[in-house]
Amino acid sequence: SNRQDTAPGGTCTTCPYCGVGCGVRAILDGAGGLTITGDLSHPANAGKLCSKGSALGETTSLDDRLLAPRIHGQDASWNDALDLVATRFRKTIDRHGPDSVAFYVSGQLLTEDYYVANKLMKGFIGSANIDTNSRLCMASSVAGHRRAFGTDTVPGLYEDLERADLVVLTGSNLAWCHPVLYQRLAAARKANPKLRVVNIDPRHTATSDIADLHLAIAPGGDVALFNGVLAYLSEQGLIDAAYTEKHVRGLSEAIESAKKEDLSATGLPAAQVAEFFALWAGTEKVVTIYSQGVNQSTAGTDKVAAILNCHLATGRIGRPGMGPFSVTGQPNAMGGREVGGLANMLACHLDIENPEHRVAVKDFWDAPAMPDAPGLKAVDMFRVVGEGRIKALWIMCTNPVVSMPEADAVRAAIAGCDFVVVSDLTAATDTAELADVLLPATGWGEKDGTVTNSERCISRQRGFLTPPGAARHDWEIISDVGRRMGWGAAFDYASPAEIYREYAALSGVAGNFGRDFDISATAGVTDAEYDAMAPFTWPRSATREGGRFFADGGFYTSDGKARMWPVQHRQPASKLTADRPFRLNTGRVRDHWHTMTRTAKSPRLSQHIAEPFLEIHPDDARRIGLAPASIAEVESDFGNCLLRTLVTDRVQPGQVFAPMHWTGQTAPTGRIDTLVAPNTDPFSGQPESKATTVDVRPFAAA
Ligand code: SF4
Repeated sequence: SNRQDTAPGGTCTTCPYCGVGCGVRAILDGAGGLTITGDLSHPANAGKLCSKGSALGETTSLDDRLLAPRIHGQDASWNDALDLVATRFRKTIDRHGPDSVAFYVSGQLLTEDYYVANKLMKGFIGSANIDTNSRLCMASSVAGHRRAFGTDTVPGLYEDLERADLVVLTGSNLAWCHPVLYQRLAAARKANPKLRVVNIDPRHTATSDIADLHLAIAPGGDVALFNGVLAYLSEQGLIDAAYTEKHVRGLSEAIESAKKEDLSATGLPAAQVAEFFALWAGTEKVVTIYSQGVNQSTAGTDKVAAILNCHLATGRIGRPGMGPFSVTGQPNAMGGREVGGLANMLACHLDIENPEHRVAVKDFWDAPAMPDAPGLKAVDMFRVVGEGRIKALWIMCTNPVVSMPEADAVRAAIAGCDFVVVSDLTAATDTAELADVLLPATGWGEKDGTVTNSERCISRQRGFLTPPGAARHDWEIISDVGRRMGWGAAFDYASPAEIYREYAALSGVAGNFGRDFDISATAGVTDAEYDAMAPFTWPRSATREGGRFFADGGFYTSDGKARMWPVQHRQPASKLTADRPFRLNTGRVRDHWHTMTRTAKSPRLSQHIAEPFLEIHPDDARRIGLAPASIAEVESDFGNCLLRTLVTDRVQPGQVFAPMHWTGQTAPTGRIDTLVAPNTDPFSGQPESKATTVDVRPFAAA
């Protein structure tokens, strides 16, 4: 057991699952028992937890843990494993250049881990080939924010849910994917009789159940719908002229484009559309929450623009109860954005395209290099791995063989790569099976560091369990490789507190460029202060105290004005044909997380939904001869799955839905991302994971 430590009163830490970032209290009883409760003092959840968070105590067993490094399947010493990683990366770079290597990392990493990985790749190896599974999650929001605001700044706060009179949830199954936020919304609805909830989603989900109005929009119809809102606002004379004249550019072009939109692309009845427009236009306090249904699209960045346009045109942004609010899927997707852990970003919200920003970061790190162009985004990265142009790949804390689109091609690409390193908790993942070198990393409950949640609240994750076997922290592993590659001074960290201090000081450099991501006031924390650090939300500047952005203008563009973008509806990239007559939507279930490496350990969580499934409309099931609970064969141009049918009118005719969690190890025929097309948004590189066209037929055993 790893539970020999005791901490009187428990340890305050944060949940490792979704971007709500709830505070939890972990209490060890000294006899092997672990109790998890919500942290009453944490601002994200005030003691509430969802089913996943409250079952965390059932997920820390050691049965499948990787306890020692392995080289080609054989146990090895850390010394040999790290030497091999450093030598192979060094030789590859010397022979083929810095862009012949890549890191693929994760929104599960803590900020300090992420910071060190980004520093090693960008400042020392000299490539921007570091990308993250957050690319699959919120990259379109990042791109949309940067186009409109000049930086990737999320203006929303959770308390806005309690202060709004209209909450629009688009492409967000909040009830299952951000359950504690959903609980806050449900409570707000009881407390505020004026509050209306609109849910825009092709499926009827648990979130739709709470909505006053559910708009079962056609897949990809969001740009058309929000363009409709903008055109309606203009026709009704409801544009905020004072705000837009002072703080916005591109208003007339955006309205002109919106007026040309064909609302039939929404697939919605005219009466429902009219009801939504009147509600949006007639309510001042509107919050629009959006998530994967908006982001995971080849038009994701334009969908974000269409939403932001409505808020900018009315000045409904950054004021209590008003604003667009992208909620992140992962616990530290936001921290990854802050440290620049994506291929197209620099640390601390600085821009890789800006020469002054590059010099500032390079000088701060005293680094030998700094790429002057973005690196490979996730889908492109694995394509280039498959082409043999990436010759050394390090995958940290994620399972791309299951979660990437066209997952079989990704598996083949990794299998064919000259040198693959995987650091993870366990060897029992579809990706770890392919590693030349496997490095045992510590997990939740063992690690120390910080994470940032969807409302920019930075919280500590604290270790309270002894790391098993030879497992080491990710920041230690990465730093050790950096030292062995010859950059000792830059990676001579003794603790996550030391990394945090450096990172916070770098944010002061960003502050010098007028960025509000400036947490340098905390750069002098002692180890003890870091250990005791209470959650705090940035910005901490006097002008934006309270964490609200943009009510007073002050955008991060060259002239300080936001940009509205003229956008037009585009169909999803995969075409419906006679051979591919269904659109496949993918997503999460309530009680599992990602590829289930933790949640599958809890029998309680598996009771909710025990196996993968395919939701299909009764008319379609009848037409193609699929009985309820029978096995369907689902085929796309990229792969093939067998799934049990769930016949339900919660999906529309012509559409099917399947969850994404099951793996080659837990359900060999249910790896849904083997079906998903690798089509990406042109600005964000985010794949369109919700609109691949497929064929569905009854499975006939040969
Ligand atoms: Fe964890 Fe998210 Fe549930 Fe909170 S809502 S307990 S962060 S999974």
